Amino acid sequence: HAKETGKNRYHFFNQKLNEDIVRKMTLEIELKKAMQNDELMVHYQPKFELNSKKIIGMEALLRWNHATLGAIPPQEFIRVAEETGQILPLGEWVLRKACEDTKELHKKGYQKIAIAVNVSVRQFEEQGFVELVEQVLEETGLEAKYLELEITESIMQNVAHSTEILKGLKAIGVKTAIDDFGTGYSSLHVLKTLPIDTIKIDKSFIDQMEVITNFSIVKTIIDIGLNLNLKVIAEGIETHFQHEILIDLGCELGQGYLFSQPVSLKELENHLLLAV
Ligand code: C2E
Ligand code: MG
Ligand code: MG
Ligand code: MG
Repeated sequence: HAKETGKNRYHFFNQKLNEDIVRKMTLEIELKKAMQNDELMVHYQPKFELNSKKIIGMEALLRWNHATLGAIPPQEFIRVAEETGQILPLGEWVLRKACEDTKELHKKGYQKIAIAVNVSVRQFEEQGFVELVEQVLEETGLEAKYLELEITESIMQNVAHSTEILKGLKAIGVKTAIDDFGTGYSSLHVLKTLPIDTIKIDKSFIDQMEVITNFSIVKTIIDIGLNLNLKVIAEGIETHFQHEILIDLGCELGQGYLFSQPVSLKELENHLLLAV
């Protein structure tokens, strides 16, 4: 009897593994088509000054709505793209599109807002990344000071190399932020030496800030950021309570569903119109 159960369990795991592999291969093939057929979209989530609720910038977030598979979460297809290397052309496309759209907004006479683009470690570490960013800025005509690249803490595993790239980006006038701060490998010692501009507190800490441990972590991150002369932004703000506490703790910038979800370029323009 025991033998049979074991065998069934083996079949179960085997089947699950097969499903995962098929899903991954499907996404890989479909993603290639999506890139060729313009099926991908970039949405924008505004960033706010918490005190005035003024829009100061926005973050580009990829969207993929597949004809039959439906909306595929970025977390899922970006992981596949990272594994297959598709993240390189994909990331370049997002960067170019985001810079183009932002330049267009500036031309239309809206306040000159900043654009943040998420960059995978794989892209960041790719030979010639700084040159690529410089080239995209030149092609789109966006001034470098309006571009910020969001990178995760995993770049700290390769401090010497990452520092070189960050210096290169700084030299061309591009800003950098550590995304999902607090969830990764940051050592304070390393953080102190990295030429970055912003830290972005991960949503998981902003959630349930009424819990004392979360509150303390958020408070500590804000204090560290301010002491290191970095800008601090909180992501995933959903309640007035969180908004108030963050202001009290001295956090100046924020982003979250309380203010706005990620929206299409058209909808973002409406936000900007209302803001003036
Ligand atoms: P992220 O960069 O940390 O982006 C924040 C995520 O939280 C976004 O999810 C956003 O829609 C969501 N979010 C923002 N405010 C709230 C809120 O108040 N409540 C809740 N529940 N969620 C909120 P999204 O768009 O699904 O993206 C997930 C992740 O996928 C991003 O996390 C980022 O790591 C990655 N990603 C998205 N677009 C790109 C891209 O163009 N390139 C790369 N490399 N990664 C991307
Ligand atoms: Mg981000
Ligand atoms: Mg984030
Ligand atoms: Mg996050």
